[in-house]
Amino acid sequence: MTSVVSPAAKATPRVTTRFAPAPTGRLHLGHLANAVYVWGLAQRLGGRVLLRVEDHDRQRCRPEYEAALLDDLDRLGIAADLPSTASFRSGPSLFRQSDNGPAYEDAVRRLEVATQVYACDCSRSTFGAWREANGRTWSGPGCPGDCRARGLPVGPGAGLRASLGEGDEAWTDTLLGEQAGPVTGEGDLLVRDRNGNWTYALCVVVDDLRHGVDFVIRGEDLLEATPAQIRLGRLLGRERPPGFAHHPLVRRADGTKLSKADGAESIGELLDAGSSVTELFRLAAAAVGWTGPLPV
Ligand code: GLU
Repeated sequence: MTSVVSPAAKATPRVTTRFAPAPTGRLHLGHLANAVYVWGLAQRLGGRVLLRVEDHDRQRCRPEYEAALLDDLDRLGIAADLPSTASFRSGPSLFRQSDNGPAYEDAVRRLEVATQVYACDCSRSTFGAWREANGRTWSGPGCPGDCRARGLPVGPGAGLRASLGEGDEAWTDTLLGEQAGPVTGEGDLLVRDRNGNWTYALCVVVDDLRHGVDFVIRGEDLLEATPAQIRLGRLLGRERPPGFAHHPLVRRADGTKLSKADGAESIGELLDAGSSVTELFRLAAAAVGWTGPLPV
């Protein structure tokens, strides 16, 4: 796949990374911690940062959250090398997932040549029932309903899974060192969900490839998703996986990670209440052990 990003966008950047929030809520301190690592490591490595709006899930994402996210980035004073927040506001973008359905359709067509892609009617409760019956979570290969062998029709109400094969993938994480894990941690990979949304698992790999991203910087909660993403990239024709750096998460006093769903205080609200940008970046950096320079 050829990259849609012109290499001339920044004079020969040594790495290309990205900041890729999902507009399912307002930005919170966890995003700021990610931004600290993304911009901090990019600066250290002489790289550039792309901004991507990961709104693959049409039920959970909202345009008003995207608008707030763009405003928050402007208020924070951090700008990606490409594209500008203004370009997102002005219309369709190569960097907004909901504008790029054909790229994911095309990827699935290429995947069908490389491996088996099949309809699956397993729901969360199918996985839950299997867990109840077996005392452990499903870990594949395939899915608990054995849909790979059932030849279900592809269409509304059915998800789409891709066989990733078996075994582990290994990588050297820039922050965590040698890492390895099974590609079928949760069974064959769901590439389209039962509501017809392309999944995060598919979109992130397709986008990192077509955007020319060669260094992925994100929270440790995505460590277990990495082996499947490396394998999927290879099946899609990616010659070399990107580099990975998984950083610590901002946690509450009880150890749980901050999330939009449970009402983590948003950056916008904190700024409205009088916090300064520097103060917020310092807080986020301290929470995740970043000791280098701050983005602003
Ligand atoms: N949209 C994802 C998130 O907000 C980004 C995941 C990634 O960096 O791979 O968690």
